[in-house]
Amino acid sequence: MGRRRRSGTYPYDYTEADDRRFLDSGAGGTLRVLHGPGRGMGMTDGVLCRVEVVAADGAVLDQAAAGSRGKEHRLHGSSAGDCVTVSVSACFDGDDGCGGPGCLPVLDELTAARAVVLTGDLADVVRFGVGPAWDEVLLVDTGELDGRASRPAACRWGAGVRLRGARPVDRR
Ligand SMILES: [Zn+2]
Repeated sequence: MGRRRRSGTYPYDYTEADDRRFLDSGAGGTLRVLHGPGRGMGMTDGVLCRVEVVAADGAVLDQAAAGSRGKEHRLHGSSAGDCVTVSVSACFDGDDGCGGPGCLPVLDELTAARAVVLTGDLADVVRFGVGPAWDEVLLVDTGELDGRASRPAACRWGAGVRLRGARPVDRR
C-alpha cells in the first residue's frame, strides 16, 4: 500500500487549480513525459525520450521530451472524442550497467505507440512506456514506489508518458 501522490505535489504536475482551468480550455487531455526511475523532474539522468502525438488526420498535435519539456501540459488543438496516436522513442545515454550479477544493459532505442481516445475527463489516465525498468517508473508516478533514492542505469531505465483525459482504443 503506497501513499497516493496528489496532483500538484511535484513541480511538473498540474495543480488542482490548473485542473479546474483545464475543464474550460476545450482541450481533450494532458500529456506528461515520464522517465527514471528517479525523482523524474528536470534531471533526465541519461534517459532520453521523445514523444509525439498525432491526430487521426496525420497532424502533429504535440511533441515533448524528457527533461525541460517534460512538464504536464494540455494537448492543444485536441478535444474530447478525438482519437490520437501517441508514440514514445527512448534510449539510455551511456553503457554503464549497475555491474551486479546478471546485469544486462539495454542500449537500443526502444519504441512503443498507442492509440487512445481523448475524453476530456482528467480521471481517465493512460500510462505506457518502454525500457527495462518502465514498471518502476510507472510505480513512482502512481506513488506506489519512492523513486528519490533511485538512479537510472543502462540496465535499469524507463521512459514513457502519462496521459490524463484518455482511454485506450479497444483493439479489434
Ligand atoms: Zn545492472
